Amino acid sequence: MQALPSPTFDDVADAASRIAGVAHRTPVLTSRTADERCGASIFFKCENFQRMGAFKFRGAYNAISHFDAEQRKGGVLTYSSGNHAQAIALSARLAGIHATIVMPHDAPAAKVEATKGYGGEVITYDRYKEDREELGRRLAQERGMTLIPPYDHPHVIAGQGTAAKELIEEVGTLDMLVVCLGGGGLLGGSALSAAALSPSCEIIGVEPEAGNDGQQSLARGEIVHIDVPKTIADGAATPHLGSYNFPIIQRLVKRIETVSDAQLIDTMRFFAQRMKMVVEPTGCLAAAAVLNGILPVKGKRVGVLISGGNVDLSRFAEFLS
Ligand SMILES: *Cc1c(COP(=O)(O)O)cnc(C)c1O
Repeated sequence: MQALPSPTFDDVADAASRIAGVAHRTPVLTSRTADERCGASIFFKCENFQRMGAFKFRGAYNAISHFDAEQRKGGVLTYSSGNHAQAIALSARLAGIHATIVMPHDAPAAKVEATKGYGGEVITYDRYKEDREELGRRLAQERGMTLIPPYDHPHVIAGQGTAAKELIEEVGTLDMLVVCLGGGGLLGGSALSAAALSPSCEIIGVEPEAGNDGQQSLARGEIVHIDVPKTIADGAATPHLGSYNFPIIQRLVKRIETVSDAQLIDTMRFFAQRMKMVVEPTGCLAAAAVLNGILPVKGKRVGVLISGGNVDLSRFAEFLS
């Protein structure tokens, strides 16, 4: 029941031209300490410095840029309590269209406020009683709005792939590219870019230990559904990969690793202390696998996606204390 063709690297290149001048071309940072600790050359692509604080702006803006006149009139709808909500709200505002965001009734007040701050209309639902995907589809249909889900959409995947494209264009070919994994929008898009621009690069996804559905899916050759995992990596607390994402991951991703919440906290501390950066727990997934010696990086040129920096500062302080 897929309505759109599977995305390719051409779609990533097209997305790059659509977001040019609107999304930030985020910096690539290096750390002598990280390189010495790992015996490798590590290039951190810092999407914590992206607009609204995460790579999600790339996919959301790209998806909305494809709307025709009728879709623009109807507006965009999504379900998310996290960075995708803010990404859609900001992108819709920039495009001059209406955005409705379906959020759980117990979503953190700060996230609801941030989404409203970008001009999004927030509708809440009871996450223990209603299925958000079903509710999103129904509301979109009733209201004549276009649903843009957080990861399972070709234009979202293509947009997310622009971060890895920029990284490889800036630093040259890589031996390994390590990417944070939730539903697989970022990993799918990054894999398209790496396969096209650095064909011998190993592409690796990293998900929270509490929810290794991606790892299980790769091993079993089909999308494995799990209960919403309990982890501080809230942006990767997804119960399954997307139907557009999985075939790309299956074809191009060599392996998927997991890290613990404690390793995420250590990595947050490393970024704060050594690199003077605020990175949210989910944004540390890929780096945690590299810095904790989970991946064989010795002597290699390694790209690491830092996916976002949106963390409540009092929580951030608690994590580090
Ligand atoms: C959404 C998100 C992820 C996971 O991205 P997927 O495309 O769902 O795999 C990782 N990190 C951050 C900061 C996010 O917001």
